[in-house]
Amino acid sequence: MKKRFSCGHFGKGSYCHRCKQESEKVEEVKPVKIKEFYDPRIDVSLPKGAAKKANKLLKEIDKATNYRQVKANKLKIDSNLVYIRLNKKYRMILERIGKKLSFVKIVDHGTFDQETSGARMKRT
Ligand SMILES: [Zn+2]
Repeated sequence: MKKRFSCGHFGKGSYCHRCKQESEKVEEVKPVKIKEFYDPRIDVSLPKGAAKKANKLLKEIDKATNYRQVKANKLKIDSNLVYIRLNKKYRMILERIGKKLSFVKIVDHGTFDQETSGARMKRT
C-alpha cells in the first residue's frame, strides 16, 4: 500500500525513499581540490613551471650554506649576488649574506640582462 509521507511524496514503507536518496546525494563529499602551496615570496603571476621550480628552490636555499649547493652562479656586477636559471625565461636572484642565501627576486631574462649589464642591480 502506497501512502503519502509528510514531505508530499507517495511511497511504501515507513519513510520516504525519494527524500532519503536526495539527502544522501547532498551529503556526498566532493573531493576538495587543494591548491598547490607556493612560497609567498613567489609572484603569483609567474608561470606554473617556473613557480614550481622556484618553490622547490626556496626550500633548498633556506637550508643552503653555500650558493654552489643550489647551483647558483655569481653575478659579475656584484659578487654578493648570485642567480639561478628557473627556465628559459626566468632567473632567480639571491643575495649572499655570510654563509646564507637570501631571496631577492625573480626576473625575466629581459630585466635580468638589462640590470646585470648596467650598474648595480636594483634589489626591489
Ligand atoms: Zn519525500
